[in-house]
Amino acid sequence: MQRNPYVIGNWKMYKTSREAVDFIETVLPLIEGCQANLLLAVPYTSISSAALAAKNTRILIGAQNMHNAREGAFTGEIASLMLKEAGANFVLLGHSERRTLFGETDETVRKKVARALADDLIPVLCLGETLEERESGKIEKVLKRQLASAFHGIGKEDAGKILLAYEPVWAIGAGKSATPEIVQDAHAAIRAELVHLLGKQTAGLIPILYGGSVNPGNAPHLMAKGDIDGFLVGGASLDPRVFAGIVKHSTKKKA
Ligand code: PEP
Repeated sequence: MQRNPYVIGNWKMYKTSREAVDFIETVLPLIEGCQANLLLAVPYTSISSAALAAKNTRILIGAQNMHNAREGAFTGEIASLMLKEAGANFVLLGHSERRTLFGETDETVRKKVARALADDLIPVLCLGETLEERESGKIEKVLKRQLASAFHGIGKEDAGKILLAYEPVWAIGAGKSATPEIVQDAHAAIRAELVHLLGKQTAGLIPILYGGSVNPGNAPHLMAKGDIDGFLVGGASLDPRVFAGIVKHSTKKKA
């Protein structure tokens, strides 16, 4: 099935509101006519101003995390409805930095996915193996576990709204991406597991993006592989010209 490519920038803890607006104003003319859907996962404090700057453009603004509760006594946390009202359309969930640095488990991620769907935010579910898991031959086991947990209890209609980002932990911020062959193999395994969990039709709706040291040089080689539907980009999404270079290379030949 032909899916339009996605490119998502993950700004992590970079850029103030003013810098976010400057970025959007600079990048818009550079990406005119590009095929990909564009999303920017910005810091919480930049959501409103970025959403305003991106209004009536093809850029969607989102967040990088949220709590799984609707509201409550959770000092320092943020709820999906707050993100939505600020102008977020989507939220990254289960990013490896959240899992490794902030102790998020498959179970927490599952609850967050369910909450985002209930509150009409598109979940971008990140998954992927560590180097140790890869070297000990556990890749498929890890991916299956992460998928089974995240999709547990979610109906097919909601499942079809989720975006997946395969991000091998060892390739994130490493300066060297996984090879197109490695990514294609992992995406094929993810797609097969989605078919197993959700059936062919729903599985076919779910885009699988790759993340891990993507740049304008490696993007076309990765994109040429059949089951890669776009990218989640960290470091290279911070400079509008570099990001636009990736977006320009994120096209798919019509099937
Ligand atoms: C990320 O943090 O999601 C990511 C893919 O980072 P980088 O592109 O810097 O590897």
